[in-house]
Amino acid sequence: MPLAFVQSHGVYWISDLVLLAAVLWLFPSWMKVRREARLSLAAVSRLTWQDTLTALPNRQQYMERLDQEIRTARHADSSVALLLLDIDRFKLFNDSLGHDVGDQLLQEVAHRLKTCVRPQDLVARIGGDEFAVTLTGSSVEASRKVAMRVLELMKLPVALDGQEFRVTVSIGIALFPQDGEHSKSIMRSADLAMYKAKEMGKDRFSFYVPESASSLDERLFIENSLQRGLARGEFRVFYQPQIDIADGSILGMEALVRWQHPERGLLSPTQFIGVAEDTGLIVPLGQYVLRTACQQNAAWQRAGIGPFRVAVNLSLLQFRQHDLVEMIESILQETGLAPESLELEITESMAMLNLHYIMEKLLALKELGVHISIDDFGTGYSSLGYLKRFPVDTLKIDQSFVRDITHDVDGAAIVTAVIAIARSLGIDVVAEGVELREQLDFLQRNACSKVQGYFFSPPVPPEDLTTLLPGLRETAVAAMGARPYREGWLT
Ligand code: C2E
Ligand code: MG
Ligand code: MG
Repeated sequence: MPLAFVQSHGVYWISDLVLLAAVLWLFPSWMKVRREARLSLAAVSRLTWQDTLTALPNRQQYMERLDQEIRTARHADSSVALLLLDIDRFKLFNDSLGHDVGDQLLQEVAHRLKTCVRPQDLVARIGGDEFAVTLTGSSVEASRKVAMRVLELMKLPVALDGQEFRVTVSIGIALFPQDGEHSKSIMRSADLAMYKAKEMGKDRFSFYVPESASSLDERLFIENSLQRGLARGEFRVFYQPQIDIADGSILGMEALVRWQHPERGLLSPTQFIGVAEDTGLIVPLGQYVLRTACQQNAAWQRAGIGPFRVAVNLSLLQFRQHDLVEMIESILQETGLAPESLELEITESMAMLNLHYIMEKLLALKELGVHISIDDFGTGYSSLGYLKRFPVDTLKIDQSFVRDITHDVDGAAIVTAVIAIARSLGIDVVAEGVELREQLDFLQRNACSKVQGYFFSPPVPPEDLTTLLPGLRETAVAAMGARPYREGWLT
């Protein structure tokens, strides 16, 4: 063999060997790279399609599948219902208990939601505390039933961080084809319906109605002008008398805020308190009401009118402020009002806060000497258990129950039972929304201690109240059975 041939073939042979060794050496690493690439591709696709916290489909996947459902329903001439669900006051929950507990709550809500629907229905987490449910082939009636089931199930206590909490949700419902032709328009309709449910007091569902669009515009309008209204001093405080059922004496006044809007005229709190709560502006607004009411009461007392106890509504967001007690103490000092002349109205929604925190704040407020009442009793997380535990002085029966007492046996039974229990616990009872003579008679017969309502007076500006007082006293004394008039509050 010529030398050249051996040399060249030897070189080929050696280079083949080197190549083979390199391939064998690199193969496992190459396979590993491929495997990892495949895994990360799956992870990326999971991330873009799935919510990592709850393992539910995310917004992107949800919208695509909703589109598919709508296409199928269009061909089959059937319907699709979209339930959009938002946890009430989730931010408050998250901020006060920490994000880990907030995450656990989201997981629990996801789990409960899945148990409310059929396997073929789609449940997704489409934003922070927003969930969406698609009910295939669903009618108005069927979606109403599911919404009711969801509301009920959500209300069951949730054990988080070694404590029990209660959460509620608001649900907006929109249907294809009547409320939108495409996924985006149905989503918008459900969103508007959900806002409506929130506006109506949360913990409820609402179907989309075309006017919801204008109510969203209204909400945005309010949101935009609230801050300016506060800065310009457009808010006013009205007062509604609370009357002793025993003898008709005027014991107190509830301070109720109004907004003298430059374009809209006088707005009632139901038109802006919800927005003020959602934006956090309720904190400065509530502080303004508290200061004004204390100043007013001190002025009345200096003028020899009263003495009354002025009751101020406290939002949950205010109750959560760490410097709440100091803030109240400094307003009392600044206005010169005695603590026993101030009552704070807190709603049952405070039960969603940490029990230890509630107890600590209530005890500190009691120590300060102010009175505490539970407002709208019976509409929230009504638990007679915490009435016993918390140091509250008064319970205000919500007007929805009072409205029913004369024509609904169950309504009457509820009111009688609440009065009896409160009395046995040494707690005072105020009935709100008394409009009729028959309601007053019923409450008198059943030993309710105070009444408040249009029967005596609507909330009025302080300047009107001074002129109205003499007439009101006469009416109240006459209504209670013409017993001698006694000024001052019940102790
Ligand atoms: P609330 O604290 O339960 O106040 C009682 C509401 O019932 C008032 O509505 C009052 O005007 C109304 N009312 C009184 N008597 C009758 C009656 O005989 N019949 C009927 N139908 N209604 C009666 P208003 O003033 O519109 O206030 C609504 C709610 O807004 C209040 O309910 C309270 O939750 C909230 N709110 C009012 N002012 C403030 C405030 O300064 N701070 C906070 N956080 N909330 C406030
Ligand atoms: Mg109130
Ligand atoms: Mg009330």
